[in-house]
Amino acid sequence: MKLPDGVKMTPMLKQYGEWKDKYPDCLLLFRMGDFFELFFDDAVIASEVLDIALTARDQDKAIPMAGVPHHALDSYLGRLVAAGYKVAMCDQVTEPDGKTLVERRVVRVVTRGTYVPQDAPGDGKLAAAALSGEQASIALLTVGTGLLEAGTFSKDEAMSLLFSFSPDELLIPRGQEADFDRNSRDLTPLQGVRPAIVPRERSDFSASFGSGWLCKRWGVASLRAMGIDDLDPASGVAASAVRYLEETQFGGSDHVHEIRPLMSDGMLILDNTTQTNLELLEGDGASLFTVLNRCKTPMGRRLLRDWISHPLSSLDVIAFRHDCIGVMAGNPSLLKKLAAVLAECRDMERALGRLSLKVGNPRDLGAVRDTLASLPGLREIVSSAESGPLSSIFDGVPDLSELTELLCGALSDDLPRSLGAGGVVRDGYDDALDDARDAIAHAEDNIRAFEQSERERTGIKLRVGINKVFGYYIELGRSYADKVPDDYVRRQTVSNGERFVNERLKEIERRVYRAERDIGEREEILYKDILARALENGASCQAASRAVAVLDVLRSLACVARDNSYIRPEMDESRIFSVKGARHPIVESTHGVSFTPNDIDLDPDECSDKGCIAIITGPNMAGKSTYLRTAALVALMAHIGSFVPAESAHIGLMDRIFTRVGARDELARGRSTFMVEMVETADILRHVTSRSLVILDELGRGTSTYDGMSIAWAVVEFLNLHVEGRTKALFATHYHELTNLSLPKLLNLSMAVEESESGIRFLHKVVSGPANRSYGVEVARLAGIPSIVVRRSEELLSEFESASSAEDREMEVMSKKYVQREIFFDVDREGVLEELAASDPNQMTPMAALDLVFRLREKSRRILGFK
Ligand code: ADP
Ligand code: MG
Repeated sequence: MKLPDGVKMTPMLKQYGEWKDKYPDCLLLFRMGDFFELFFDDAVIASEVLDIALTARDQDKAIPMAGVPHHALDSYLGRLVAAGYKVAMCDQVTEPDGKTLVERRVVRVVTRGTYVPQDAPGDGKLAAAALSGEQASIALLTVGTGLLEAGTFSKDEAMSLLFSFSPDELLIPRGQEADFDRNSRDLTPLQGVRPAIVPRERSDFSASFGSGWLCKRWGVASLRAMGIDDLDPASGVAASAVRYLEETQFGGSDHVHEIRPLMSDGMLILDNTTQTNLELLEGDGASLFTVLNRCKTPMGRRLLRDWISHPLSSLDVIAFRHDCIGVMAGNPSLLKKLAAVLAECRDMERALGRLSLKVGNPRDLGAVRDTLASLPGLREIVSSAESGPLSSIFDGVPDLSELTELLCGALSDDLPRSLGAGGVVRDGYDDALDDARDAIAHAEDNIRAFEQSERERTGIKLRVGINKVFGYYIELGRSYADKVPDDYVRRQTVSNGERFVNERLKEIERRVYRAERDIGEREEILYKDILARALENGASCQAASRAVAVLDVLRSLACVARDNSYIRPEMDESRIFSVKGARHPIVESTHGVSFTPNDIDLDPDECSDKGCIAIITGPNMAGKSTYLRTAALVALMAHIGSFVPAESAHIGLMDRIFTRVGARDELARGRSTFMVEMVETADILRHVTSRSLVILDELGRGTSTYDGMSIAWAVVEFLNLHVEGRTKALFATHYHELTNLSLPKLLNLSMAVEESESGIRFLHKVVSGPANRSYGVEVARLAGIPSIVVRRSEELLSEFESASSAEDREMEVMSKKYVQREIFFDVDREGVLEELAASDPNQMTPMAALDLVFRLREKSRRILGFK
């Protein structure tokens, strides 16, 4: 490190420079006593990001400095990594002796993906990915819990899995930056932050090297036993993630015990647009997660998120979950009993992760203890006869009673946040510790006895006390100045007397200090031993954590099913999608009882007389989009293993749910609405199978009417004619022309509208048959468009309709659309509306008003293309 001009090299600066040179891309946090200090440019950055004072180390102010207290380090770390910095922590590794320079060493590098905060949510999500032709291998490592998943997929699938994981940090092979840059647009969750992309050496991702390294680490002969082929590039990618963790955490990665195949065959695919479109996980407002989440433990909440983004396509597993929910939903007392015990469980999964990462503290071990202590209670409840299938949840979780006993017997009830201040180990656990504690407890008695005996010996009314700086002392009032015994040594003069010590007092003091030190040391030894025993059982504890999480999620789903009157869907190998009285779980939860249920009835099977591709027409705001999302959500919930908001449901196993809905987020991603639509539609058409469910909402809306309609038309034809075995699709559209398509198994549905004197009312009810009118003008009225404009529109509409003749029928159709859509959306028309809105009839002469009407009429006719 080159020092700025005018700064003199000192031994400490030299040491600082050496470490800074080794970690040039990190902010270096340099431990000095109770503070972690940053210097030079690092200090300037930290003071800005953390909003802390920028001071200087020297008088000339040539060495900028900023510091954070070490006990509050965690929250500062969080802010630094969130701002995109890597932080190297250079800690003191020898005790300061006041003479020589303290030895320091970088003990940890904190990055966005490896940061697991102490008191805040966040598990540290680290992903690694490598592209190879049309394929991509990815590994997803949740640092806080040690869960490692990996697999090789088509690029699209890999990106959508990455998206649902939403990593904080993504490792990629050097040279693939541009490729990922192109794709990682799609990795930014709507409310989230883009992952930090970290290029690593290509060789780091090699499968043969990686699988060998992992096998050695885990002491296995092959990864195949875990479901991943040793030559699968995914194993190289997984190894690169673990190695990165190892490198940054200096060995703290023992909690990564195994690799799990990601999305094996039993998973239903949800592409990333579908995940955001359906509001599955928390964003700003309500989501499927918020509706389904009644979990009692953080482990449960984590798993529920995982289940929601990874629906199953295996009937057995789905049926198991449904069975469990059925048992619990019908037994409120069982729900209650489980809730009580689950509420005692703490985040054992993450606590173990933090302890393995060496960032844990006694409280984390306490979380492990509390959770283990709840296990017997949970096991007992699930093994009772009333629990039925629940009993198998703890199968395969090893017996942990020995560790539980150890932790319960050894750790205090209220644990401190750090080691060294005492209070970690329980009385009665260790004799040496008890002795040391006794010594302290008796110190007070000893002092009093000493005081008494000194008073008797000297005949002086002296007092023995303690001071933080000088330790124990004997205090004599001024009047005894000439009677000070010979063996007293003066220590300090205070306002009303003088303080002394003598050999005996020093001996007592030494004993007390020794005892205090002994307690600290002894506790540390004991704690380390207990911790080691817990970590030895890490894999078993993680298995227990997962069982608790499963139980918690199933209980949560059962509570929701019970409270919201969800039912168990009948599921099988058919391709039927038939739901009576389906409700939108999220809208229902915010709208309450006023939600209107609707039916869905599709079956692509040739033998069935049902249709399978439904065209849904109806005015804006009539409920088309809600109906489509309801269908998608009900299907999804069934595949998660949840009950569904309906009266009855028969759902054949699906392989994928596709959605193309709405037109949001395009601008943020720098693509036009139409481009996004087409990219997503292309993706659907390439992957759809006869087992898929396709939801298309107003496809073609982003382009001109003819273009949009032709594309929508062609897509419907494609789904109907070119997908082998046909597929299930719901297609909401404002192109009424599509209702005239004559294709097999095509259904026309529309939204019921009640017409009356005063206008129209939406019933939100799906009925069969196409909508007869688009009601654009009525909707405009409802939306608050000034009545003069609405009336004029009505006039125009009837002109269009009456002008229709055989040859310009198409033109008429076109213009109808024109009126309905453009009146809302086209900015060119704003001028007319603005002028109208700005006018104040109360202040106008009849002549001026007439003038305005003429002018606006002229304008609107011009805009609408009248002669
Ligand atoms: P469209 O897509 O036809 O324009 P939306 O699906 O966006 O209509 O629905 C418009 C409004 O009607 C939304 O605010 C929605 O909450 C409400 N809505 C839709 N369907 C129902 C229903 N089945 N029951 C109650 N309210 C509904
Ligand atoms: Mg809509």
